[in-house]
Amino acid sequence: MTNLPSALRKEEWEKIRASVLEINGVLVADSNGIIIWVNDTFTRITGYSPEEAIGKKTNLLKSGYHDSEFYKDIWDTITSGVVWSGVLINRKKDGTFYTELMSIIPVKTEESNNAYYIAMKEDMKDIHNWKVSEKQQTTVLDGVVPLMTELEEARCTTDAMLDATSEAVMLLSVNDKMLWLNRAFGRFFSLVAQDAIGQPFHNFNSHWDKVFEDSSKIMNIINSVKENQISEHRETVNQIWPQKRELDVYSAPVENVRKEYLGHLFVFRDVTRERELERMKSEFVSLVSHEFRTPLTSIRGYTEMMLEGDAGELTNEQTDFLKTILRNADNLAEIVNRLLVVSRLEAGAIKLDLRKLKIHEIVDNAVELLRPQIDAKKLKLKVTVHPSLPAVEADSQWINQVIINLLSNAYKYTPSGGIISISGEEKDGFLYIKVTDSGIGMSTDEQEKLFTKFFRAENPETIKAGGTGLGLWISRSLVEMHGGKILVTSIPGKGSAFTIKLPIKSKFS
Ligand code: ADP
Repeated sequence: MTNLPSALRKEEWEKIRASVLEINGVLVADSNGIIIWVNDTFTRITGYSPEEAIGKKTNLLKSGYHDSEFYKDIWDTITSGVVWSGVLINRKKDGTFYTELMSIIPVKTEESNNAYYIAMKEDMKDIHNWKVSEKQQTTVLDGVVPLMTELEEARCTTDAMLDATSEAVMLLSVNDKMLWLNRAFGRFFSLVAQDAIGQPFHNFNSHWDKVFEDSSKIMNIINSVKENQISEHRETVNQIWPQKRELDVYSAPVENVRKEYLGHLFVFRDVTRERELERMKSEFVSLVSHEFRTPLTSIRGYTEMMLEGDAGELTNEQTDFLKTILRNADNLAEIVNRLLVVSRLEAGAIKLDLRKLKIHEIVDNAVELLRPQIDAKKLKLKVTVHPSLPAVEADSQWINQVIINLLSNAYKYTPSGGIISISGEEKDGFLYIKVTDSGIGMSTDEQEKLFTKFFRAENPETIKAGGTGLGLWISRSLVEMHGGKILVTSIPGKGSAFTIKLPIKSKFS
């Protein structure tokens, strides 16, 4: 029969563990005698909390009672791979002495050259039967050693996996100690990871000043994620040394199995190339769109002139052909305009000209512009945006664009004879402008993808209506730049409602 703990029956192991660990302090130290783990009973016996003990040498408990020969004997015994058991006098945190029965055993794994040491300690004043206690300690240690070996092997595999990733990974403790760093972390930031492990992050402040363009940004990220232990966080920081990099910093809280907060994991991903490609793509789209504009203006201009008869009388067929050219040139111009807005938004090149804005004026403009098409399609339009609504601080050009986008979608996706309405309302410090239609609507699935670039529903009505799939992406970006939100509700076959929510600045109300 194997004595591996995984083969031990669970209840059996739990029983031994619970009863023995209740009275035995457990301490795990690395090959240099640095404490890496202690249990609650250790704290009860010695007075040292895990925070105070972990990272210190085991001689933390030394009382001065035993001579160096005594400790050498313990050390020689365990380094030769044998269990040492005996009684020693130690000193608690409060300075008082106590006598303990200690068994200590080394753990060695194939993967790691370094051994670990597990010590079990029982306060002599709690011991009724010495032999029983000693037997209990060695029984648990016998069970713990293979368990530790398994855990150590698993840890080595995890370390190797994390070392193999291209991202720099850091585990930061509650009190900002770098508990763990992978190899890429050392490579990214020119640090010897092994030297930095266990040290507070801020011990390297002058190093971070050299590494990051703005090291206070990274400090702010660390502080803000720690204050908010539950949330995940993502942000970009610029590295300047030893190499220029754009880094995507992702962080998430880490908990142990008892759901206790241990600290935060930080993953630094090099996105320099990715961002560079995005910029190049955006610049290319912008360049091509610009180049399209001039010939398009000329095509439209000459077509309009011919339609007006400037080049002589036209047959009905010629007029039809020219109208088709004009319609397609208009569509192309619309695509080019939208692509230009997208590339400007992506490059952060749109700066808002914020002014006091009365929303009913914007709505009236949009209605006036689209009224001929709405009437031609025999749609009923109801506008209830009252002039008494509070003003918002917004850029009229861009909010106008958003309202036009929503109103023209309502027009495009509502069959002839339907109803469109625009209403405005003030609630809880926000202004709500709602564009409702009785049109084709969309499924929940489609609603989720609605605000992604180039998304168009796949039904024949949408395809017939034509479009770029960029209007809503642009609208959402613009509304969010104003500190607002855009919301949608829809039922397929019944209609949709798009609501813009804009913050009302108190100075205008
Ligand atoms: P476009 O209308 O140019 O295709 P948008 O980004 O404005 O691009 O809209 C994306 C898609 O969302 C549309 O293609 C359509 O499928 C759907 N959609 C938008 N507004 C409505 C609406 N009012 N009713 C039904 N579907 C809509």
